[in-house]
Amino acid sequence: MKRLMTVSLMSDAGCHVELLNLHHRILELPGKVSLVYSQILMDEKELPRSVDIALVEGAVRTDHDQETLRKVREASGLVVAFGSCACLGGVPSLINPTPIQEALKSVYLETASTVGGVIPYKDVPKPLEFVLPISEVVKVDYMIPGCPPESDEIFATVTSLLEGEEPHLTEKHVCDECDLERRGVFEARLKRVHERPEPGRCLLEQGYLCLGPATRGGCKARCPGRMVPCDGCRGPSDTSWDQGLAMLDAVSATAHERIGTYELRTHAGIFHRYTYGASALSRLQRRLKK
Ligand code: SF4
Ligand code: SF4
Repeated sequence: MKRLMTVSLMSDAGCHVELLNLHHRILELPGKVSLVYSQILMDEKELPRSVDIALVEGAVRTDHDQETLRKVREASGLVVAFGSCACLGGVPSLINPTPIQEALKSVYLETASTVGGVIPYKDVPKPLEFVLPISEVVKVDYMIPGCPPESDEIFATVTSLLEGEEPHLTEKHVCDECDLERRGVFEARLKRVHERPEPGRCLLEQGYLCLGPATRGGCKARCPGRMVPCDGCRGPSDTSWDQGLAMLDAVSATAHERIGTYELRTHAGIFHRYTYGASALSRLQRRLKK
């Protein structure tokens, strides 16, 4: 019987919800897996000393996350980064360009509704300077990216590991899985999501910042299939080392002489929405801080 634990660092438990979305398929996991620890799903307080597989959700935000993660690594045969926060830093790592004291001040002292606020300091974990993907703290064996990850992919990865096989993530991009029509003609102006798109036509060509060209497939182009631009939740594919820079490159290539009409500043948060913590920029920032 293989022993499995699931751990939550800084996260909103969305990846665990997707795990629960397996419904009865959890019972089909081969080799009879035993769930021995899960903060979200079980009332078990102590981390186990030894498991075969650990699924780790969430990024590393505090010294407590860091310590927990190191203990998990020590106790686990295989560590799987589970979801985009664990794999890439996720949306929370967009805070990294802001110094931590400034961020705490803004959240606890300066919001419009705060009166006499206090930055918590007693009996709470100490925040680290930067939000980190878990691979910056411990060795990670496999990843299941996505915000949240696809439940089919969770099932396939855990099944492969239980059977002693290598799990496999697709090397395709979201564009490879997208059925929208591409005409090779691009709009001169970037559009916002509230502007109504022409149905059935590639969103990037219509001027929406769709991150399909720089994002790992595996979701069957879920969002463009509903005429919503891909915002890159599955992170870079194996061929884009930095999703945001790859996307900037793709947009610049389509802009040609119209670059003056593209207001990229207003869209900057989109390029690294899920990956800032793992981006080249964030790495450089951490190196300069040392
Ligand atoms: S809509 Fe997005 S995912 Fe689909 S082909 Fe265009 S850029 Fe690629
Ligand atoms: S289309 Fe993009 S944002 Fe939507 S689920 Fe797929 S990777 Fe995530």
